[in-house]
Amino acid sequence: MPGSRKFVAHSPKAPSPMSAPRKLFVTTALPYANGKFHIGHMMEYIQADIWVRNQRMNGADVNFVCADDAHGAAITIAADKAGVTPQAFVAEIAAGRKPYLDGYYISFDNWHSTDAPENHQLAQDIYRDLRANGLIETKSVEQFYDPEKGMFLADRFIKGECPNCHAKDQYGDNCEVCGAVYAPTELINPYSALSGAKPELRSSDHFFFKLSDPRCEAYLKEWTAAPGHVQSEVQNKIREWLYKDDEGKGGLGDWDISRDAPYFGIEIPDAPGKYFYVWLDAPVGYLASLKNLLDKRCIELGGDGISYTEYMADPDLEQVHFIGKDIITFHTLFWPAMLHFSGRKAPDAVYVHGHLTVSGEKMSKSRGTGIDPLRYLSIGLDPEWLRYYIAAKLNGRNEDIDFNPEDFVARVNSDLVGKYINIASRAAGFIGKRFGGKLGEVSADGDALLFALRDAAPQLHSLYDGRDYARALREVMALADKVNEYVDQNKPWELAKKEGQEARLHDVCTVCIEAFRLLTLYLKPVLPALAANVEAFLRIEPLAWADAAQSLPAGHAIGEYKHLMQRADAKMVDKLFDAPEPAPAAAAAEESLPGGEAIAPAITIDDFAKIDLRIAKIVACEKVEGSTKLLRLTLDAGEGTDPQGSPVLRNVFSGIASAYQPEQLVGKLTVLVANLAPRKMKFGISEGMVLAASHGDEKAHPGIHVLEPWPGATPGMRVR
Ligand SMILES: [Zn+2]
Repeated sequence: MPGSRKFVAHSPKAPSPMSAPRKLFVTTALPYANGKFHIGHMMEYIQADIWVRNQRMNGADVNFVCADDAHGAAITIAADKAGVTPQAFVAEIAAGRKPYLDGYYISFDNWHSTDAPENHQLAQDIYRDLRANGLIETKSVEQFYDPEKGMFLADRFIKGECPNCHAKDQYGDNCEVCGAVYAPTELINPYSALSGAKPELRSSDHFFFKLSDPRCEAYLKEWTAAPGHVQSEVQNKIREWLYKDDEGKGGLGDWDISRDAPYFGIEIPDAPGKYFYVWLDAPVGYLASLKNLLDKRCIELGGDGISYTEYMADPDLEQVHFIGKDIITFHTLFWPAMLHFSGRKAPDAVYVHGHLTVSGEKMSKSRGTGIDPLRYLSIGLDPEWLRYYIAAKLNGRNEDIDFNPEDFVARVNSDLVGKYINIASRAAGFIGKRFGGKLGEVSADGDALLFALRDAAPQLHSLYDGRDYARALREVMALADKVNEYVDQNKPWELAKKEGQEARLHDVCTVCIEAFRLLTLYLKPVLPALAANVEAFLRIEPLAWADAAQSLPAGHAIGEYKHLMQRADAKMVDKLFDAPEPAPAAAAAEESLPGGEAIAPAITIDDFAKIDLRIAKIVACEKVEGSTKLLRLTLDAGEGTDPQGSPVLRNVFSGIASAYQPEQLVGKLTVLVANLAPRKMKFGISEGMVLAASHGDEKAHPGIHVLEPWPGATPGMRVR
């Protein structure tokens, strides 16, 4: 009878959702908004995402957020180089985040920016509360000043001769040749890396967070030693910074939290011209992103939403941060102290991970070992292979992990395809063809196997919770091995040929499908998209941990089996390491190409269709004062008229001033990228881009050639 199978009686010990489901506020470190994501970012997001999914599958209420870290001198300089405002620069970086996050199934609830109003408000509030608590003081600081740029210089923007080994062009904090560490004032013949000018020593008032205050020291000793807050190996590291040595030296010094204008950041209250150092407001961005999320929900839900203040006041709320080992001090010393002494909730856990190396080497773009996450996706590699591979290497400790291409291919093929997917592919066909898609009864031997599988659920959930994904996946693969042994003993493909073995065949295949369902549940935190496909195939609700205790009843109809995962192909993985920027040899080869560069990687017709190209008429054109490169074009792209009856026109800046006089272009037709996001430039907003041809090496082969359609085309026609 359906649902009356024996094993339901000896009720399995599956994890029941905890009596009070956990309330979790989880973040990853905020990426600095001066560049695209690299594979190291994806590793951290994948680690945190697996942890969050594991909690959600157990009924936890999780808010998982991140944001761009938008402030600081490095952003200002990068924006300056690009000829845009820091705000526009950061906005463009932010707009590029989505394909990475969606592409690797990272389930953030919100993505925000530290330059958002919530962060300005919260950072200033925290500062005021620290000041009221007597933990802020002002000291005069002597620092190098660039007289040409009119700004104080951070250590990394000062260069000079090493005072120890006399190597030239070393940075202001340490020598890359001999490793000496020194103050920028010790450099011989220092110069500004921004302007080349000789820097002057000037003094300025700086604001300090008094971490040396005995209250801070006592609190941080207690917070860092409390169980669960940080890993033990991280605790050891922290002790070196936090505790004075036998001679009473060392220990925490006060933290300089201010920078002088010009600085892209948050103004310090009651201190004109002073800004928070980027590391003061960056972690506050966690709270700002959460507040932004909760505020948006309040608007959506009306009276049913919960306010940020109410949410943070809940004593059951756990605050968890995932970070890399290079930012431990900020998160385990400065951040808990900032929160605690401003009267706020301190983190409940800071989980530190190591770095990702590639074939044993630290990643470096110049050596071509960096893996570009979008390139990985564009050449057709499965994002869940990477999620699985990274998970199989992460053990919850602060250790580096290595991406090895051969190991990657072997692991994906042997574990995921060979051991796991195979179970379904060997049984599903018989269920479909011979038993009308319906599951059958299970006899004692299959029952015993399934019992062993169910029994593993609580341990697996807790291994994920402890971030020992490597061990969790080893356990899951050991279970898959047991199932495969059962398949090999029973050989359904032989049972299918024998007379009178119909019931046994149905029994064995049913065991396989039920085992596959359980293994899918156990892999779901790591392989969410594959799990969703399996759920559709099995015609079941989304799997959660509680489902380990249930079983699919006899008579349950499953769907048709479709291929669930490809084998990884070593040749495809090799493509990942074709240097994206040409190596010298490749550059020489490109030199001989008429256009000066190789054809870009293949895209699909859908990729192309995203670009809306339109015929546009250049109705006006003028030189741009202050720029030798740009012309300002006024374009009619056939977008109709505004309410006043004037034609809708576009303003576009184009770097073609070296090739055309404005009067040569007026009245001509050209091709406009009409759906390019507007870009704020120094001279105004550019609302699109016109197409022009040029050689890959413009210096050696000058010339820019604007595209013009054949006669008959009119403004507004789409180019396809
Ligand atoms: Zn040196």
